[in-house]
Amino acid sequence: MVDKEISTDIVTYGDPSDPVLRRVAAPVANIDSAVNRIAEAMVAAMLRANGLGLAAPQIGVSKRIIALDIDGDFHILINPEIIDLSDDAEEATEGCLSVPGVDAPVPRRAHAAVRGYTLDEREITIEREGLMARALQHEIDHLNGVLFIDYLSPAKRRFLLKEYARLKREKDK
Ligand code: ZN
Repeated sequence: MVDKEISTDIVTYGDPSDPVLRRVAAPVANIDSAVNRIAEAMVAAMLRANGLGLAAPQIGVSKRIIALDIDGDFHILINPEIIDLSDDAEEATEGCLSVPGVDAPVPRRAHAAVRGYTLDEREITIEREGLMARALQHEIDHLNGVLFIDYLSPAKRRFLLKEYARLKREKDK
């Protein structure tokens, strides 16, 4: 099988390829060299964009892989699953590399425990609070076709997407 070239370009909302952002991503069956190459491309894209996290659908690959890098707390998780969330919600400003230029307050659970596999096929559980807990929830949402804008009220979302469209038009000029 010849592997397709993996892009390190980030798919953004409104792109012709953006339906990948709304798809439920497929579980990874084997952590093989193809998965390693996808992870490499994700990390490259995340670093270039200065992001805290990235999910495979954001580079056009509909597979359940996420990458996170918050102050050196770096993880690549394959088939991540949320196994515990605290009851308390925290609101904080959130943005997304696939909806660049805009952000909004989004409520998330303060504490999250996530189980997944590493690239060397070890099962690990990550338990975090604050920003990393938020990022884990955000990236796993991507694997289920959910974007942070989905948490906003219709009026707020409309306002934000109008601003987003304006910024995109300006950039495309
Ligand atoms: Zn995102």
